[in-house]
Amino acid sequence: MNYQNSFEFAQKKDTEDSLSSFRNKFHIPTDSSSNELIYLCGNSLGLQPKTTSKYIEEELNDWATLGVEGHTEGKHPWLPYHEFLSQSMAKIVGAKPSEVVMMNTLTTNLHLMMVSFYQPTAKKYKIVIEADAFPSDKYAMESQLRFHGFDEKEGLILWKPREGEELCRFEDLETILSEQGNEIALLMIGSTNYYSGQAYPLKKITQLGHKHNCKVGFDLAHGAGNIQPNLHDTGADFAVWCSYKYLNSGPGSLGGCFVHERHANNKDLKRFTGWWGHNKETRFNMRKEFDALPGAEGWQLSNPPILSMAAIRASLDVFEEAGFENIREKSLQLTGFLEFLLDEMHNESISVITPRNPEERGCQLSIQVKNADKNLHTKLTEAGVISDWREPDVIRIAPAPLYNSFSDVFQFVQKLKQVVTN
Ligand SMILES: *Cc1c(COP(=O)(O)O)cnc(C)c1O
Repeated sequence: MNYQNSFEFAQKKDTEDSLSSFRNKFHIPTDSSSNELIYLCGNSLGLQPKTTSKYIEEELNDWATLGVEGHTEGKHPWLPYHEFLSQSMAKIVGAKPSEVVMMNTLTTNLHLMMVSFYQPTAKKYKIVIEADAFPSDKYAMESQLRFHGFDEKEGLILWKPREGEELCRFEDLETILSEQGNEIALLMIGSTNYYSGQAYPLKKITQLGHKHNCKVGFDLAHGAGNIQPNLHDTGADFAVWCSYKYLNSGPGSLGGCFVHERHANNKDLKRFTGWWGHNKETRFNMRKEFDALPGAEGWQLSNPPILSMAAIRASLDVFEEAGFENIREKSLQLTGFLEFLLDEMHNESISVITPRNPEERGCQLSIQVKNADKNLHTKLTEAGVISDWREPDVIRIAPAPLYNSFSDVFQFVQKLKQVVTN
């Protein structure tokens, strides 16, 4: 890709961008004088599609006019509502519709998946996670270890970057498995890593784990809607994600869950159950013994919050219209442009810790600014840039291809320059 360091070039790229009209499908936050902010924080909370309120309104109307009948008579009946999401969600994560369900929230789903896929024995009980895992994931793993009566310090193995490095090397994971594989029950890796932006090789990790008889699961909080994880093809046992980051479904909206189809009909697998995971034909015949639905649906507990599901449906329809391949294609160019402009700054205190290979990252670049503190982030915010700060010295910048433009990226780097040189 031949980039140029000029605003004209950025504007030209925006004109040529086949997805540029999608920006107008989102509410872009503004400052107090109604100027649009440079919003580069879709990795934390994605922006609101303008259609979301209409989708939610529809359900409120059905509730108002139909009451309980909305379960079956609504325009989008509530009873099978989760089914309306499976097809498009499955495409985005590269799964079969039957392997995917939207339910609960991410950390809850992680625990539910571990009930089924973390079955430790006295000898084989350890869990591997990446060193800079999101805190919630680490807490969940530690509590699962304790719940099963193990010492969390001995039981949790961290896949770490080497001394002086920022990224995890696959060969170091191989070493962990070859040395301790017979004691490891589960690999639970958060891809794409929320801090470094590193996208791990999911299929290779799965094959490595399975070779050592471990279960393998992924947390795609920063992957879903950002990279194409090809979940089915990786062969992973399970995956979980949230829908409020790159999936633009609103604060605290429901999470996603993937269970590989080879587990679809395994009714012997331990699981926590509730009526929504029960055979649809006999669900309301409440005296029947539990009969799990095949596929990921069989892990549902409760009837889901429809208003939140409606927000997800609104967002997935935008993805569907844009086509995930086109989104990823633009993302590669947009983030490539950001990387180019950062390199053009020729500022020695600035370095990108995210992998330089576009295949090993999503849209986010994590920028380390030597000797900076949170003040830098405050100044950027004052300059109209919404970004994310991680102690001690990293700004995470995530140009989201559905609503960010090449001009956004250019303007951000201009402001960063001003803030860093002052
Ligand atoms: C955002 C994020 C979470 C948040 O979990 P919730 O249960 O949705 O609050 C967990 N794990 C990772 C890796 C995340 O990025």
